[in-house]
Amino acid sequence: MSGALSLTVGGATHAGQVRENNEDCYLVDEQAGLYGVFDGMGGHHAGEVAAAVARDAVIAALAAVEGDVGRDEISAALRRASAEVFAEAERRKARRGMGTTAVLCKRVGPRTLLLAHVGDSRGYLLREGRLQQLTADHTIVAELLARGALDEDEARSHPYRAVLSRNLGSQAETRPDFRDVELQPGDRVLLCSDGLSGYASDQAIEQTLGGATDAAAAAKELVDLALKGGGGDNVTVVVVIAGKRAVPRRTQIIRTSGAAAWWERRETFLDHARSHGMAASPICSVLSEEEAIAIVAGNLCEAVYRDLEQTTGIHTWTYGENLTAGWLDQDGDFDVLRRLLDDLAAAAGAVVADIQSSDEHTGALLSVAVPRALLVADMAAANVLAKHLRQVESAIGQVDAVRARSASLTESVTVPLEVPRVDPPPPEVVACLDAALEEASHGAGGGERPREDSVVADCIARAHKAAREHGGRLDGLMAARELLGTGAHGELAVAPLLDALDRARALHVSAIKRAPGGAEVKAAAARRVLVAHRLLCCGTAHVVVDSGRPIADSLREATESIVQLRRRVVDNEQKLTGLERRFQTQPGWAPPGGRE
Ligand code: CA
Repeated sequence: MSGALSLTVGGATHAGQVRENNEDCYLVDEQAGLYGVFDGMGGHHAGEVAAAVARDAVIAALAAVEGDVGRDEISAALRRASAEVFAEAERRKARRGMGTTAVLCKRVGPRTLLLAHVGDSRGYLLREGRLQQLTADHTIVAELLARGALDEDEARSHPYRAVLSRNLGSQAETRPDFRDVELQPGDRVLLCSDGLSGYASDQAIEQTLGGATDAAAAAKELVDLALKGGGGDNVTVVVVIAGKRAVPRRTQIIRTSGAAAWWERRETFLDHARSHGMAASPICSVLSEEEAIAIVAGNLCEAVYRDLEQTTGIHTWTYGENLTAGWLDQDGDFDVLRRLLDDLAAAAGAVVADIQSSDEHTGALLSVAVPRALLVADMAAANVLAKHLRQVESAIGQVDAVRARSASLTESVTVPLEVPRVDPPPPEVVACLDAALEEASHGAGGGERPREDSVVADCIARAHKAAREHGGRLDGLMAARELLGTGAHGELAVAPLLDALDRARALHVSAIKRAPGGAEVKAAAARRVLVAHRLLCCGTAHVVVDSGRPIADSLREATESIVQLRRRVVDNEQKLTGLERRFQTQPGWAPPGGRE
């Protein structure tokens, strides 16, 4: 690896939750590549003065250096800062004894930072998610601990744990410690006062520093972390993030290279779609092959392009929605749509593979982004289908309700379809029935609707036959099937048939009343005729309910499809989430500088 790493830097400081004034300050000079944190101490706002004097002295001293800045120059700058703070303290009694810490970071090479510190302000490096402390505190207790004179527990509770063994300003002289940091892309360097390290755990710092999106946000989040941890001291943070020079954001990479690479291969995509036989899909049946390719495949290609360019999913969603709605509105089969979408996805996959073979980086981008766009189209299709199925579902609900109401009729027949044999009618009843047939048939004719009239006449004749020749017995089902299937209507038309049955019964009964014979004879004839008509009616009802059963069954199958579809939608959503996660973490996508 070679070449300079770009650095992005952000700083933040806060007085904390307890103290009224902020004696910390920080330094971010991007032009000089100089960053630092100072934590001042001393009464009557002297700490603020000490930190500011030291900071300004360091800036001035390093600005005056001709040539390269290294350890000697930084040592000299810190000594000068210490001398200036000391001199300032000497000038005013109230400022006696004031001092400050300093942790500095200076860019000294294309990839090298030089870290210097005095006091207990710290430097950390976060590399590949792991936080390591680069500085050793200059405190009495830390030195005792290092010499083995104290253990960790004793150090934590030691009364002098905040007493510095080195600082800038309490004496004119000072001696910094140094450390070189060879940066790798993605490294994050943290400088902070003890207001952070004393109020946030290493683990919390590690997570916050690693998870932040940029240096300024990281600095602010770390300050917030200390405040949440109590904020018992001033807290100051500078974050340096090392990245590649001039690396565009991920979205820009997709915009500029991914979308362009995809669009450049538009013809290849259309060729693949053609060779997958896409134009043969019934969805394209009204289009010529070239129209099908240009419209169905071409529009998808464009939708994907726009979504890549704009980093949205709206165009592929609209594509999926329109395609599906158009197809389902023609009562199209979902399997056909599924096959078409699969063919298009296969064509897109071939294009992505093609791009990948010539440009690995862009190919890697597109291997996630394009399937994601197609998945969005899929989900839009599923959404439209779900809407359609919801309508079917409510129709099923209605059919089920009707079936439930009619179940008592169909499953436990209250009127037997076959009545017990009765004696054949005596001759005078037969004469009455025959006379009534003639009159009733005559009444059925001459209406405004000859076809209906003939059904009425048919019903009367069948009822008469049952009443006269079979002693009131009639195969109602058979008769009903005949009436429905081969009657004058020639098709299943239930309502007109029921009307005809009503009319036939009325005509037949009133004809019996007018027929020759005594009251007893007429009553016997009427009873036979009514039984016969009732059997015809029951038979018809039975046939109607029975003929509805296959429709109800197919609706039931549709319910199962809905359940399967829902499962598919859930699966797709999970897939999408997975892809988005990959989209976030795809190696080679993120600029080597890490999250930008
Ligand atoms: Ca402090």
